[in-house]
Amino acid sequence: MNKIEHIGIAVKDIEVAGKIYEVLLNTQVYKVEDVESEGVKTAFLQSGPNKIELLEATSTDSPISKFIEKRGEGIHHIAFDVQDIEAEMERLKKEGFVLLNDKPKAGADNKLVCFVHPKSANGVLIELCQDMTDTN
Ligand code: ZN
Repeated sequence: MNKIEHIGIAVKDIEVAGKIYEVLLNTQVYKVEDVESEGVKTAFLQSGPNKIELLEATSTDSPISKFIEKRGEGIHHIAFDVQDIEAEMERLKKEGFVLLNDKPKAGADNKLVCFVHPKSANGVLIELCQDMTDTN
């Protein structure tokens, strides 16, 4: 696994949260994207080398609405950049981690993603993501 690719933060209102984080990080949201498969709307901000992903639910059965219902707004997941997501998924499966999807799926920001169940990682939802733009 490589560096932390981004930190995902669950928010109730992405417009409001976006403005707060724009002031906090002294930058602008550079991308807003709907991820229909996940029932979320995402907004990205960059601060130095670090990236923040804000996530708002677009449906009531979205994992983000369930998360906010249970735990309120806050850090939702930590995403690590991986070179070869299938190999990394295979490795983690062998090590006994519970993966939330069998195959990598298309996530926001041109990534292939897979989630590791928080019960496997001390209560933290882990996202693996492979950039689809730097492979061919
Ligand atoms: Zn993410």
